[in-house]
Order: sequence, then structure tokens, then C-alpha cells
Amino acid sequence: MFNKRVKIKEMLAGDKANYEATVMGWVRTFRNNQFIALNDGSTNNNLQVVAELGKFDESILKRLTTGACIKAIGEVIPSLGKGQKVELKATSIEILGDSDAEKFPLQPKKHSLEFLREIAHLRFRTNTFGAIFRVRHTLAFAVHQFFNNKDFVYLHTPIITASDAEGAGEMFRVTTLPLDGKAPKNDDGSINFKEDFFGRSTNLTVSGQLEGELAAMAFSDIYTFGPTFRAENSNTARHLAEFWMIEPEVAFNDLEDNMNLAEEFIKYVIKYAMEHNKEDLEFLAQRLEEEEKSKPVIDRSEMGLIDKLNFVVDNDFERLTYTEAIEILKESNHNKKKKFQYLIEGWGVDLQSEHERYLVEKHFKKPVILTNYPKEIKSFYMRLNDDGKTVAAMDILAPGIGEIVGGSQREERYDKLIQRMEEMHVPADELSWYLDTRRFGACPHAGFGLGFERLVQFVTGMGNIRDVIPFPRYPKSAEF
Ligand code: ATP
Ligand code: MN
Repeated sequence: MFNKRVKIKEMLAGDKANYEATVMGWVRTFRNNQFIALNDGSTNNNLQVVAELGKFDESILKRLTTGACIKAIGEVIPSLGKGQKVELKATSIEILGDSDAEKFPLQPKKHSLEFLREIAHLRFRTNTFGAIFRVRHTLAFAVHQFFNNKDFVYLHTPIITASDAEGAGEMFRVTTLPLDGKAPKNDDGSINFKEDFFGRSTNLTVSGQLEGELAAMAFSDIYTFGPTFRAENSNTARHLAEFWMIEPEVAFNDLEDNMNLAEEFIKYVIKYAMEHNKEDLEFLAQRLEEEEKSKPVIDRSEMGLIDKLNFVVDNDFERLTYTEAIEILKESNHNKKKKFQYLIEGWGVDLQSEHERYLVEKHFKKPVILTNYPKEIKSFYMRLNDDGKTVAAMDILAPGIGEIVGGSQREERYDKLIQRMEEMHVPADELSWYLDTRRFGACPHAGFGLGFERLVQFVTGMGNIRDVIPFPRYPKSAEF
């Protein structure tokens, strides 16, 4: 059978030797006309396949180029070489796919992350991206495992929606109307979306939360894990136009329960990755250490990747209110010496990422949960606190990343919710389905959204979010 092969990870882990096996994979290097470093993506470690001198035709040997795909059959024997227990002494080598060494963009040397982004279709075949995407997989698996263990229902919320959960712009339009000025118009000249595919104007979702809340009012505990889209023109290392979000929504939870759930969740998935991707994380830690060496000393992080992850898993997140955070920021030397681009002058301002990072990286040196923000800077659905000024919101800030989670206890009181919608110009008539949950059996409930790529960034130590999603979408870029 063609596919009766042993995966390289399994072969290298096995203490077993002296058996015949088939392997398939891509040639990383071919040395001394004899030693093939073969990789099949199951691990960053290559299998040494030995093509004994004189045993193979020159016509085969010259096709063993970097990037070529081969099938090799042979005997797995204890290795004399350093760094590996076994190697494969080939009896047959078949070229499955040639790779022109002159044209193959990946050379067996170090390439910059920027260059690799331009060849995202090939970067999976590097050690760095091999490790990143195996870790990404493990984290995704751990997400489902965590919620499944707690009997949450995985809910698939729509990707095409007519609502904007935030009540703000930044959405991608979905339409089948012509773009060339021939779109049907209303009398006032605006586009007549009644003629559009859905009979109304629609967008790609920015969040599954509102729909998630509907389901939580029946199943009690749900979560979503799917793609979300934001047409924000943010060219940052933390924003994508298409990213994956995890959004649990839980009936009967208050803000504190919500914080506990988020903290437990983050620790669980990190721990899971540390247990199941040890080698890959060690590789990424090494990579980060190298990268840090090229930075000025004050910009270097005090902890290595593995220490940092252990620290997060082993320690409580710091919890404080927005008001307390503003005090700390206002009194900080950083603020007094005008080192912030946006100086903190008083209560009520939105925190910029420089402030978030100061709190997390300089002041507390650990993940921070900020709560009870001014209602003006948060969404309409967040529960109004008794002070009438703040809402039961929470943001989790992580070192090196900034905001990783945004969540809140939701406003379950119909009158209060309607009032907030009016204040924030959210059209209640378009959200009558959402308001129904407050009309029929409303209950206290809470939830949050965690940006999956920011989590992957945190765990892999990658500085740019474009390097932790296979094919990143950002302003002026949607290749592949
Ligand atoms: P930010 O202030 O960083 O733009 P946000 O306040 O817009 O974040 P939310 O609307 O609360 O974020 O979204 C929930 C989570 O989704 C965030 O905590 C973050 O982890 C993630 N997230 C938000 N926008 C993006 C984006 N453009 N790309 C990747 N992840 C994102
Ligand atoms: Mn944003």
C-alpha cells in the first residue's frame, strides 16, 4: 500500500531498531552525496536517510534536491551520528516530486520572517513555521477539550450577519449587487438593498457574541470558535482583518465568575500546549532568545519563553479596576516624565496599548485583568454598575501582547439595556431578536472574546500576528 509509511516523529521516538520501514517526506538537505535530511512535518527533527555510496544511480542522486519529495524504503538502524537514535539505511528511493534547486525559494539557510511572509505558501516547510502551526493546532484542540470537559455546547454562529455587535463601523460588506454604478437605487439615491441577495444590507461578522447570548439562554453554557472579520485599517503587529475568536457565553455567571473562567481557560490551554508540544516550544524559545540578542538590552524580556509560560500558569492574574489602573498610570514616573505618547490626565479616557503594556510589563510584570470601565468607552450590552458610571467589563492584558480578552457581564435588565442602546445610538428595532432574551426569561449572564491569534502569539513568542495564522489578511494583502 502506497501510504503504509511510518511518520518520522514516531520513528525517531521509537527505541525499536532493525526493522524495515517506508518513509515519505521533503528533502531539507542532501550532504556528501549520501546523507538526506528528511522531514515530513510531524516534527522539526529530520530523519537521516542514508543512500550508501555506489548503491544508487547518479540519475536519482542528482534529483535529491532541497524541497524534493521522496519515498524511501529501508532498514531502521541505530544511528552512529550524533543527535538521533536511529536512521534509515535506504534500499530504495523514489522521487515523488522534483524540486528545481535553482528555483526553489527556500534555501537551507536562515530567512527573515518578512521574506517568509511573502512566500507563505512555502513557509510551512521551515522549522519556525512548522513549530508555530503545530502549536496552533494543539491550542485549538485544547480549546475544544477545555469546554467539552465542562459540558459547554459548541455553537456555530453565522459568518454573514446583518448586525454589528459593537454598534460601530469597520465591517466588510457582503453583497451580490453590481459595483459599476448599476446597483439599484432608492429615490434618495442611496443603494436599494431590498434588491440585494438577502433583501437587506449584510456584512461579515465582527463577533458571534449576540447570537451566542441567545443560545446561552437555552443551553446555559456555550462557546463559539470561528472566524471574525474587521475592516479596521490597523497596520499593527496585533491586528488582522480576518482572525479567529473564542467566545464563551454563560448563563448565571457574574463578572467574577467570568474572570475565573477566562483565567482558568488561558492557563489550561497553555499548560496543554506545554505538555504536548514540548519540543516545538523549546525550539521557539531558542529562536526567541536569538532574536532578543539583536535588541537593545532594555527592550529584552527578563524571562525566556518557557519560563514566561510557566510563570503565567503558576501565578494568579492581577485583578484591579479601571479606576485603580488610572491612578497607577497617572502617578507613574513614565507619565510624569511624559514618556507616554498619550498622557493620562484623568478618569474616563480609553487606555492605549502603551498604557496597557506599561501596567503589564513594567508595573505588575504579569497578566492583568482590568474591570469596571467607564460606560462611555465600552459597548452597549455591558451591565451598568450601581455607580451609574461604570460597566461590568473586563479586559485581560498579557505581557508582550496587550489586550488578549475582552468581556463583560451582560446587561440583562430590559429597561437599562434599552436606555443604553438609545444613548449609544444602537437601533433597537434591528435587534428585537436580541432584546427578546430580555423579554422572555432573562437571567444574569456573562461572556468574553479571546483572540485566538493573540493567544498563539503569546504561546509561541512570535512578535507579529501575521506569523501565527497560515495566510494572513491585512490591509492591502490577501494573497494565497
Ligand atoms: P483592540 O483594542 O486590541 O483592537 P478590541 O477592543 O477591538 O481589541 P474586542 O472587540 O473586545 O477587541 O475583541 C475581543 C478580542 O479579539 C480582543 O481581546 C483580541 O484578543 C481579539 N481581536 C480584536 N481585534 C482583533 C484583530 N483585528 N485581529 C486579531 N485579534 C483581534
Ligand atoms: Mn479593535
